[in-house]
Amino acid sequence: MEFIPVNEPLLNGNEKKYLNECIDTGWISSEGPFVSEFEKRMALLTNRKYAVAVANGTLAIDMAITALDIQEGDEVIMPTFTIISCITQIIRVGAIPVLVDSDLATWNMKVDEIESKINSRTKAIMAVHIYGLPVDMNPILNLAKKYNLKIIEDAAEMHGQTYYNNPCGSFGDISIFSFYPNKHITTGEGGMVLMNDKTLFDKCQSLRNLCFQPPRRFIHHEIGWNMRMTNLQAALGVAQIERIEYFVNKKRSIGKLYNQLLADLSEYFIFPKTELEYAQNIYWVYGLIIKPKFNISAIKMMEELNKEKIGTRPFFYPMHLQPVLKNKGMFKNENLPNSELMGEYGFYIPSGLALTEQQQQQVSVAIHKVSKILFN
Ligand SMILES: *Cc1c(COP(=O)(O)O)cnc(C)c1O
Repeated sequence: MEFIPVNEPLLNGNEKKYLNECIDTGWISSEGPFVSEFEKRMALLTNRKYAVAVANGTLAIDMAITALDIQEGDEVIMPTFTIISCITQIIRVGAIPVLVDSDLATWNMKVDEIESKINSRTKAIMAVHIYGLPVDMNPILNLAKKYNLKIIEDAAEMHGQTYYNNPCGSFGDISIFSFYPNKHITTGEGGMVLMNDKTLFDKCQSLRNLCFQPPRRFIHHEIGWNMRMTNLQAALGVAQIERIEYFVNKKRSIGKLYNQLLADLSEYFIFPKTELEYAQNIYWVYGLIIKPKFNISAIKMMEELNKEKIGTRPFFYPMHLQPVLKNKGMFKNENLPNSELMGEYGFYIPSGLALTEQQQQQVSVAIHKVSKILFN
C-alpha cells in the first residue's frame, strides 16, 4: 500500500493549456493577461467590485492591515486559533492583537465574546473562517457598524463557500484568499485581496507594486512591497476557478464519506459539524479532535497513523501559546481553553481534491486499527 498524502491537488483541467499559452506568448511576469482575468473571476465569485492578486495569502493579510491604516497602538480583535499569517503584520506595525477563543462546535472564533473586548483603541476585527464552516458574520458586521470598526475577512479556506447564500469573501472592508496547493483553488503560491472601495483598491494596487506612482517612475512617496502574482500563477488560477463548483462538490462528498466511514468512532473523536443554520461544511480539511478525557495527543495519534502510511497534519496552534510571541512578553494571562484543547488534540486526515474513495477506505481502516490500540 502506498503512502496517502494529506493533500494532493487536482490539476487536470485547463492548467497545462493555459501554462503553455504563457510560454508560447512569452507572458510570464505579472504583466500577462491571466492576472487580470483571474482577478475578474475571483471578484465575480465573491460579488466584489475589485480584486488585487498577490504572491501568497500571508502577503494578502499584510497588505490588508497596511491598507486599512492599522497603526501602532491600535487593537485588532482576532481568533487565537488560526495560522500565524493572521498576526504577523499586526505585530510588525506595532498594533495589538486581542485574542478570542474558539467555539468547539464550529471551530471558529466565539463571536459572542467579541463585544466585551472592544474599547476606544479597537480599530478592526479579523474574522477567519476555519476548516470549512464560515464564521457567523452578521453579529460581527453589526458590531463593526455600532463601534465604527474595520473588518478583514480571511477567506483563505473558503473559496466557493457561502454564508446565508452570500459568498465568503464578500464581507467587510477587505477579504483575502490564499491559493496554496491545499486550498480549493491553487496557483502553487498565490493570494488575493478583494474590496468594494475604489480608494482602498488603488492603495492596494500601489502597495503591491512598490508604490510606483505616475508621473515619474522610480520616485516614491510611500513604502510598498513587490507582492505581484505572475502570469504563470494566474494561468493556473483561471484553469482552477473554472472548476470551483466541481471542487466544492468533491470536497463535500469527501466529507460525507468520512462521516459515514468514521461514524462508529464518535466515542473517541469530535467530528466536524456537517452544517449550520447558515452554511454546509465544505471541509477545506477533514479534522478530528480526540476527546480530551482519553489524554492522547494528536501528535501520538499522527505518529501511529504515519506507521500505517496515512499522512496527517496537526491543527493550528493557538497564537497565545506561540513561543515567539510569549518571548515578546505578549499574552501573559490569556485563558482560551477551547483553542488550547483544539491545538493539543486536533489533527486532520487526507482530504485533498485528488483523494479517491478507495484511499478514504484505507484511511478509515487505519484510523479504526489505531483507535482500537490507543483507546484501550
Ligand atoms: C492558508 C492560509 C493563509 C495563508 O496563506 P498562504 O498562501 O499559505 O500564505 C492565511 N489564512 C488562513 C486561514 C489560511 O488557511
